[in-house]
Amino acid sequence: MKVVSIAGWKNSGKTGLAERLVGEFCRRGLKVATVKHAHHDFEIDRAGSDSFRHRAAGAGEVLIMSSRRWALIHENAHEAPPDGPALDKLHPADIVIVEGFKSSDLPKIETRRHAAGGRRLAPEDRHVICVASDRPAKASTPPEFDLNDTASIAGFILREVADFDRRTAKPDLDRSGLSAMPPGTDWMPVDEALSRLEQSVCAVTGEEIVDLAAAEGRILAQPVPVLRSSPPAMNSAVDGYGFRYADLEGESCRLALNEGRAAPGAPAIDRVPAGHAVRILTGAVLPEGVDTVMLDELAELSSGAVTFRKPSRPGLNTRKRGEDLRRGEPLFAAGRLVRSSDVASLAAAGHTRLPVRARLKVAVISTGDELVSTIGDASGNAVLDANRPMLLTLLSRWGYVGKDLGLAGDTGEAVRDALDKASQEADAILISGGASAGDEDHVSQLLTTEGEIQAWRIAVKPGRPLALAKWCGRPVFGLPGNPVAAFVCTLIFARPALNVLAGGGWHPPTGFMVPAAFSKRKKAGRREFIRARMNPDGGAEAFHSEGSGLTSGLAWSDGLVELEDGARDIGPGDMVRYIPYSSFGI
Ligand code: AMP
Ligand code: MG
Repeated sequence: MKVVSIAGWKNSGKTGLAERLVGEFCRRGLKVATVKHAHHDFEIDRAGSDSFRHRAAGAGEVLIMSSRRWALIHENAHEAPPDGPALDKLHPADIVIVEGFKSSDLPKIETRRHAAGGRRLAPEDRHVICVASDRPAKASTPPEFDLNDTASIAGFILREVADFDRRTAKPDLDRSGLSAMPPGTDWMPVDEALSRLEQSVCAVTGEEIVDLAAAEGRILAQPVPVLRSSPPAMNSAVDGYGFRYADLEGESCRLALNEGRAAPGAPAIDRVPAGHAVRILTGAVLPEGVDTVMLDELAELSSGAVTFRKPSRPGLNTRKRGEDLRRGEPLFAAGRLVRSSDVASLAAAGHTRLPVRARLKVAVISTGDELVSTIGDASGNAVLDANRPMLLTLLSRWGYVGKDLGLAGDTGEAVRDALDKASQEADAILISGGASAGDEDHVSQLLTTEGEIQAWRIAVKPGRPLALAKWCGRPVFGLPGNPVAAFVCTLIFARPALNVLAGGGWHPPTGFMVPAAFSKRKKAGRREFIRARMNPDGGAEAFHSEGSGLTSGLAWSDGLVELEDGARDIGPGDMVRYIPYSSFGI
């Protein structure tokens, strides 16, 4: 977790700035914790309060709880005074703001207010990363901000604190127990990232009308009712002889054959008199006087009469009116993705045109100075852009309009321009590369400082540098550069979210428990997805390498094996969850 402290002399504006920064970081979707340094007694020391009385009587620790909050009060009286904030007492958060602790070695924002004397902290304090002053100097080192310019200070903190951590190699603050992940950060579990993502998206597309023939793959914008019952009337399910069941006597039946023939689409024939049978074909409406049909093969026709054994029940071999679809009942709910297997029902229920969601527009950007689009442009060690064609193909497969925004170089400006353009042209953005915390990782830097980041360090392999954020209100998936990681993260994170944005539901992929046909030892702490395919014996084979740059492994595989967050030692025959690519709609 990132930690920053706000230090300054009395009345220099520390609490006000802390308060504004907490608000700003919360608005950007970060989980915030604070630590406040107090000199001696503080709020809870109000004499006479119940918790005070418990402690005054000698309790070393008091846990005070309500349904809204809890606080643990611990007596330090007999211990050495702390020389810094006890961060290990906090639950994991994205950022911790410490107010006070002037002499700690945390990265510091120094507050300065001239009306309060404008006193400075010790000028040699190398932990001061910036100054927040009511009269900032124009150019200075460290930089000075206007005390009230909360957004700029917040952005600066997010950029600088990571740098500061690297420079001063602080002790490991990670307490999340994610042993497979590098220490020093809180890695967000996949499920938490997915649930944050789910909560942050809603439908953004409009509505349009399409012909039934063009509805496959589209999302219904309105609930669709049954306009007409199917079948519209009671009819025969077989070719045979129709009669009234109540007219039968005894086990062996002989009925005189009526004239005429009931055929589908032919004019209805006259009433069939009691004790008579009529020739009837599959789909023909039952004439009056007929409620049961005897199958051709089980009936014998001779000299104007038909003989057969008595059927087991009335209504045999008939179809009831509306037994498939009943007029006025709901057929499909809004948000359903129309599949080819739905089209028969839609047609039978009377629909020729349907209200569907307009197609979601999704922009695709690749970032990296090393990338080129075509082999003709590739000189030296240039890398051919694999992600853009791959992502555009996935989008079109899912029924979205992919907007190819090309390549962006490794500069903040290039990435910002591309994101600005994308947010004007599209409803959502997939941008790959530059998502980790390196010097050239401008995507993560920009999304953290100028976008609204929702989740960044997600405990997933492949794909650790994955940023989920918003840019100008548009959801952005800051995907890893390595093609396998970009592919997996798109399937796992972007796919369900895009479907919600497009007007559909949040649908986790369907997986199947199958025996593993591989061995693997996995540490605790992150979810892993392995490229896999089913072998003829019904076992899941794994690709020979887990390298996330190997596009050949994607082509080799038919799906992914998902290994849960905990540790596992998998041997052949152990059950694992296999998710075929078809479960991702591809
Ligand atoms: P990055 O996430 O930008 O650090 O990139 C990680 C790795 O993925 C580097 O080796 C990049 O060259 C590679 N990479 C990034 N973007 C692409 C892309 N669009 N196509 C192929 N490789 C890429
Ligand atoms: Mg890069």
